[in-house]
Amino acid sequence: MEDWTEGVNLEALEAMGPEELLRWSWEARGTRAAIFTSFQKTGCVMIDMARAAAPELRVLTVDTLRLPQDTHDLMKALEAKYGIRIERFQPDPDRVARMVDDHGEFLFFDSREKQEHCCAVRKVEPNRRALATVDIWITGLRRDQSAFRKATPKAAVVEQNGRRLLKLCPLIDWTEERVNAYISERGVPYNSLYDKGYTSIGCVICSTPTRPGENPRAGRWRWTNQLAEAGKKECGIHIQGSGI
Ligand code: SF4
Repeated sequence: MEDWTEGVNLEALEAMGPEELLRWSWEARGTRAAIFTSFQKTGCVMIDMARAAAPELRVLTVDTLRLPQDTHDLMKALEAKYGIRIERFQPDPDRVARMVDDHGEFLFFDSREKQEHCCAVRKVEPNRRALATVDIWITGLRRDQSAFRKATPKAAVVEQNGRRLLKLCPLIDWTEERVNAYISERGVPYNSLYDKGYTSIGCVICSTPTRPGENPRAGRWRWTNQLAEAGKKECGIHIQGSGI
């Protein structure tokens, strides 16, 4: 099969600004390019930018079936404001039922392995199905989000399911302050949990508010914070061959 990524000039992409990257993605691959978001603030910023830069660019998310109501409300607000349809990929119901039968509903409290198993079933597998529909995977990762993300490139070719994809992080070098300023200047809808002390939002229970000075991802799987690898807290979507 032809490898489309072979002709891509990563250096040129690294030099592009976010709107330019979104426009380039649409022009390069059309509906085979998409913004993947879990509706952190950066995802909302990219959706806003795309309305002018690439209005038909797809927006995809994984609905783990454990998302807070605030996140569902935000999705509806974004769809209404920008006239878009967010594509929702959900976990395989049989795999979820089997996991809950085998380990219980709250298996993520038991061990790091069971948390990763839950994330694999509810997030990574549906995300893999979503990735199968694109050649360009656009994410809202930022280097200042965690020590683990510090070396993430803006543009990289990554292996997924035996296929090479272009992974783009248009806001990789933005700071939290810059994201917040953009949101307030442009009136971009964002998750109301941010106003309740959250700095990173995923599933209910596994996301909690953070205290001033804590790492922005400290509230994710908070009960694992004492582990040596706490700085690498990831659900699996962005590790191993995915550009980090
Ligand atoms: S964040 Fe928690 S509930 Fe959501 S998929 Fe991961 S372990 Fe499961």
